[in-house]
Amino acid sequence: MSSRSIQIGDFRVVALRDANFALDGGAMFGVVPRVMWERMTPVNEDHTIPLATNPFLIEGNGVKIVVEPGMGHRWGDRQRKMFHIDFSDGHELTESLKAAGVQPEEVTHCLMSHCHFDHIGAACDADGKPVFGNAEHWTPEVEKQAIMADAHLRKASYRIEDLQPIVDAGLLKTFEGETEIVPGISMIQLKGHSEGVSLIKIESQGQVAVYWADVVPTRNHVHLPFIMAYDINAEDSWEVRNEWIPRSTNEGWVALLYHDPIAPIGKFAFDGKRYTFEAREG
Ligand SMILES: [Zn+2]
Repeated sequence: MSSRSIQIGDFRVVALRDANFALDGGAMFGVVPRVMWERMTPVNEDHTIPLATNPFLIEGNGVKIVVEPGMGHRWGDRQRKMFHIDFSDGHELTESLKAAGVQPEEVTHCLMSHCHFDHIGAACDADGKPVFGNAEHWTPEVEKQAIMADAHLRKASYRIEDLQPIVDAGLLKTFEGETEIVPGISMIQLKGHSEGVSLIKIESQGQVAVYWADVVPTRNHVHLPFIMAYDINAEDSWEVRNEWIPRSTNEGWVALLYHDPIAPIGKFAFDGKRYTFEAREG
């Protein structure tokens, strides 16, 4: 075990790596003033802040599940520059998956919390072919509808070419509400960040871990009012966060963070004033 892996009952959970990238710091912190957030994170010259993409491998009880594939390789020069997309030092999905001892064709399930490009781009390779050709792919039905819509408030965050090859290959399954993918592993559709952003819950032998997607993207977003400007409905995000973050803290769940550049695995804590993140020691 290390700071990038943990055992949850029967399941080994490993934080994989896809590209590092960067997004506008103001957009990442919504109404929080820069004088506050610039103390929490490095800031690039163009006002972006460094972010990771940490897909997760869940392995055990005969399944090998990839949660949230990553950015992927289908980016033009302009976008690579704008988003600071960087695959160096092993920050590449299939490379990190193989380093964890799993070949792409062995993957049984690929779970996609929502369909924004930084979350599902790597489900297809540079040629647009599904990377996990033997896996059931799961996402909420409302996310499939959003990515396929002609007009959407967050059209800039959705690219139909990320999902269409998976649909065409007959690999996509969708759900509404909550679904148990395999015993102990569920997707729970919420709201606020996007149409159907989902948490992914792992429960085994009395232990619980939750993958937070963009409900809590980094360690600096555990404080309840720190809601991203990217969210389509801040009041819904507020409601969701007020329900799930205190519950996770009180019940001692392990927290899996997708965009945190430093520590993808830890736990939430409450210091009497605000919710915080305690990284798992490696
Ligand atoms: Zn994201």
